[in-house]
Amino acid sequence: MKATNKTEAQRIAYFGMKKMEKEGGYAFTEGTVSNWFNVVKEQDGTTYGVLLLEKRGVCNCPFWEENSEFGACKHIYWIREELAKEADFQSLTETDPRWLHGGGI
Ligand SMILES: [Zn+2]
Repeated sequence: MKATNKTEAQRIAYFGMKKMEKEGGYAFTEGTVSNWFNVVKEQDGTTYGVLLLEKRGVCNCPFWEENSEFGACKHIYWIREELAKEADFQSLTETDPRWLHGGGI
């Protein structure tokens, strides 16, 4: 699906990412190159490679390829969300003692 402008591409990517979060069934692995990730749809094994750059990302899914000038797709957004969650969790475990021992106090 070709977006007409950057805002539309970002909207499509954002709501696609929300759907991925809601439905689940996706996993990601870190690639061999830094900032490179593989997003796997567990149901059928479809895998897309995502490269995160500072302000944009690169993906090899059909949506990204059709809208490459806008630098957005749901996989890029999803990876950013997952990494942000992981960073949140890590900062929690570092600063809040409740999380250090399996939550048991
Ligand atoms: Zn993608």
